[in-house]
Amino acid sequence: MSANGKTFVVLMGAPGAGKGTQARLLEKKLGLPQVATGDLFRANLKNETELGRLAKSYMDRGELVPDSVTVKMVRERLTCDDCQNGALLDGFPRNPIQAEALNELLAELGGRIKVVPYIKVDEEVLIERLINRARIDGRADDNEETIRNRMRVYHEQTTRLFDYYRDRHLLVEVDGDRPIEEIHQELVSIIEKA
Ligand code: ADP
Repeated sequence: MSANGKTFVVLMGAPGAGKGTQARLLEKKLGLPQVATGDLFRANLKNETELGRLAKSYMDRGELVPDSVTVKMVRERLTCDDCQNGALLDGFPRNPIQAEALNELLAELGGRIKVVPYIKVDEEVLIERLINRARIDGRADDNEETIRNRMRVYHEQTTRLFDYYRDRHLLVEVDGDRPIEEIHQELVSIIEKA
């Protein structure tokens, strides 16, 4: 993709904003793998690993899994062969400590963040989408109480990253309350231009 090292795209947005959907579409289009920390934790849960057992208690409450554990898991994932050109990060970083850890990791791996698209959606739309997703996929953490807690954690911790990436001229806002394909096209053009 890029001649000088690996390219990383950090997708930001609240729970339910459509990061996963868009990351999967971009994965095909750009040939960069989607690295979604939520999916990695769920895979560990399913395989009943020690990491999965540890993560479960936090996920069930809608809290962040401790940074040290999360960063270690991301490091392992990003050193896999399929990330040789970079990756689309979905759900990571989620707070300033993780953002700093990502910078260190990218310095070490020889990569940089190309752009940070922020998929923006109103809170009422988000809650409605998450409650619907709970009905369809039956994700254990998609019940109303956990959803509200995930939103609270998002506002308290993750939204601080907007200024962090805005200061670094990486943040680009995208209206996420539109058809999936339209958002996809805009993301492709933002990433290609960046
Ligand atoms: P959503 O964004 O809809 O809340 P995810 O699948 O991204 O769903 O995350 C589900 C849960 O996994 C989170 O509530 C949290 O417990 C855990 N998790 C995911 N990413 C991180 C992260 N970067 N740091 C800590 N915990 C995380």
